[in-house]
Amino acid sequence: MSLATSPVPVAGAAETPLHVAHRQLATAAERIGLDAGTHRMLATPRREMTVSIPLRHDDGHLSVLTGHRVQHNLSRGPAKGGVRFSPHVDLDEVRALAMWMTWKCALLDLPYGGAKGGVTVIPEAHSVGELERITRRYTSELADFIGPERDIPAPDIGTDERTMAWMMDTMSVARGMAVPGAVTGKPISLGGSHGRADATSLGVARIAVAALAEARGSASGATAAVQGFGKVGRGAARFLAEAGVRVEAVSDQYGAVRRDSGIDIPALEKHVSVTGSVVGFAGADPFDGEELLRLDVDLLTPCAVEGVLHAGNAHGVRARVVVEGANGPTTTAADRILHDHGVVVVPDILANAGGVVVSYFEWVQANQAYWWSRETVESRLLSRMLDAWHAVSSAARTADHTLRDAATVLAVERVVEAHRVRGLYP
Ligand code: NAD
Repeated sequence: MSLATSPVPVAGAAETPLHVAHRQLATAAERIGLDAGTHRMLATPRREMTVSIPLRHDDGHLSVLTGHRVQHNLSRGPAKGGVRFSPHVDLDEVRALAMWMTWKCALLDLPYGGAKGGVTVIPEAHSVGELERITRRYTSELADFIGPERDIPAPDIGTDERTMAWMMDTMSVARGMAVPGAVTGKPISLGGSHGRADATSLGVARIAVAALAEARGSASGATAAVQGFGKVGRGAARFLAEAGVRVEAVSDQYGAVRRDSGIDIPALEKHVSVTGSVVGFAGADPFDGEELLRLDVDLLTPCAVEGVLHAGNAHGVRARVVVEGANGPTTTAADRILHDHGVVVVPDILANAGGVVVSYFEWVQANQAYWWSRETVESRLLSRMLDAWHAVSSAARTADHTLRDAATVLAVERVVEAHRVRGLYP
């Protein structure tokens, strides 16, 4: 896609994740005076693969699904990024998510480029056997493009450590040897890392604590609302509660619950692991999930999907701090509105980077066949996250930028530098 044809929404139309990603890059490019050619190169994915996935269902009939893998940038190392199983997956969404991975890895100074993958599928509509066949066929179609030295997948929406085990096994069978560095987010028994399952959530919560400390002196006694109660949201709510933050409201795709005196998060986690949803939790009252975004709390933590804060609802946000556990939850229009209202937004590429940091640790451990303790993983994770937080917040203060602009500028500068020293081939 060229910049000339890059998607610019018509007035009033919703911004897609790709519009948002392109606009964020354009802002950073302008701030650092990037030449048009380099800007165009960074706006264009390096490689895109779309594969069809024939699926034999349990009842014998055949259907064909579509999967994608986009490697946005490879200048700093192999590509890295999750795999999403969701009915909303399309190539443009994967392109946006891959670009954000490039900036996230560069911002955290990980030796990776950025990638993302996905299959357009409703995972809940399939048996375990069907999900395994989808995963294995998707992996095998991409086998020439992924692997420890090329592109390392990880879990995202709708996928988990079981999916990663199937991917690792499929690639290992294809190569005729165990390849534990092929994916991250694997089960511990297959060479997964201690601390990986909770890494994104722990990072989100620690960054939120740092942002609350800056905004109101301390996180202790602050109030919070968490949107999404999956792999990221659950742990974020738990770690926030452990840090003394009162989590008053939580939602998932099925509904929302609130309790002004604070929700017992471990009890809610038990309820969700049995029922699959926050709905029906006896320890809180049901309410409208859209209202969660407008609650009068100190901290709002979107941990679900893209584009949930947009021009139509950002005026109603009353939180002082928004910490983006999800990728791309805030459109550029909403970003402007929140900034004008004095709301501090900690961007996704910083706030939710804990997952890819520990994925990097997992890859390093797998490549060396030498495993670290949970304490080592967590202390190295937190030191990297807090270093990035201080770098971004001080760059934002110095240049009078938003945290998002400061983070994107730092990341884009690192990627541009890698391109500059490598030169252009041929
Ligand atoms: P998940 O599938 O485990 O959980 C998603 C949660 O969001 C579920 O509780 C779902 O019910 C809820 N949800 C979906 N739509 C919603 C809506 N409209 N309103 C409220 N809740 C809704 O996925 P995850 O791994 O937790 O990922 C969540 C977000 O975090 C995604 O944007 C993902 O890209 C991002 N992320 C994930 C990781 C990771 O390590 N898993 C790392 C970085 C970023």
